[in-house]
Amino acid sequence: MRNVIIIGCGCAGNTAAIYTGRAGLNPLVVMGQEPGGQLSITSEVENFPGFPEGIQGPDLVENMKKQAERFGAEYVWGTVDAADLSKRPFRVSIDGEWQETRTLIVASGASARWLGLPNELALIGKGVSSCATCDGAFYKEKKIMVIGGGDSAMEEANFLTRFGSEVTLVHRREEFRASKIMIDRARANPKIKWLTNTAVDDIYDVTKGEVTGVKLRDLKTGKVWDQEVDGFFLAIGHIPNTKPFGGQIDLDPDGYIVSKGGARTNITGVFHAGDVQDRTYRQAITAAGAGCMAAIEAERFLEEEGH
Ligand code: NAP
Repeated sequence: MRNVIIIGCGCAGNTAAIYTGRAGLNPLVVMGQEPGGQLSITSEVENFPGFPEGIQGPDLVENMKKQAERFGAEYVWGTVDAADLSKRPFRVSIDGEWQETRTLIVASGASARWLGLPNELALIGKGVSSCATCDGAFYKEKKIMVIGGGDSAMEEANFLTRFGSEVTLVHRREEFRASKIMIDRARANPKIKWLTNTAVDDIYDVTKGEVTGVKLRDLKTGKVWDQEVDGFFLAIGHIPNTKPFGGQIDLDPDGYIVSKGGARTNITGVFHAGDVQDRTYRQAITAAGAGCMAAIEAERFLEEEGH
């Protein structure tokens, strides 16, 4: 029987582990499919307070893990594939092995949606990014491309014009899913060039270890051409990692956890932290703050229950 199981070891999960570890609760952290979360696939992090020279994303999460282990947090490889939250103690299945816990902190994050191109994964952090706020500043006076037709794509394209010499927005349809106000704002920005009905077929150049260009295809005419690009930003949505909790934890139509205030979910003793609930900010520092909140709430809950 565990006092607390934390699902996920990105910024939210690791911070929850530091706090619950330091509170003497011996947390078990299930590392999940993408250990380190979104930070593990970014390069330099320049906006996490306390690192005036910046820090590599993977180093930041590894440091957090070490810090949590210092306070007795235990990390296990594996993924939570099922959960029974119908009664306490809760039960979670880690790759088929069931564990009992008095409290649960769900910090399983949201995974960026990728196009699924063969070269895409190899160039993540080397020109391919899913986070304009995180990586935009690396593309000062460079050619930037943004993929997507939703609010995120509009927002990110606008934001990236602060840095890039030009920003090309590529969308697979003629119509945009984004709200009118966001489209209007982007349309009014003279630095944004628009390519609709266009698909990305390939990203270059894996041999150089950096993005140098893309192969594009006009979906109406079939015309194929290459275009020079330095920064390639995906804004085609995120998928919250909440599959094992559907039907138990209240989720919104897109699968994000619905917060009941603070770090609370609809289930007493089950708390949320980070991107699994937050579709708005999605920053390392906000996830870390949320992990801290979840840990404090779990600790208080256990105390009230007499543990
Ligand atoms: P989204 O609304 O789901 O839009 C995703 C976009 O990516 C769509 O245009 C979609 O094209 C495209 N897409 C998806 N898969 C693709 C693929 N495989 N290849 C090419 N294109 C693909 O996601 P989002 O923009 O991240 O927004 C998520 C939610 O957050 C929305 O509710 C949005 O309103 C909200 N949001 C709000 C703000 C704001 O108000 N400031 C900012 C950001 C996000 P199709 O349209 O063809 O499906």
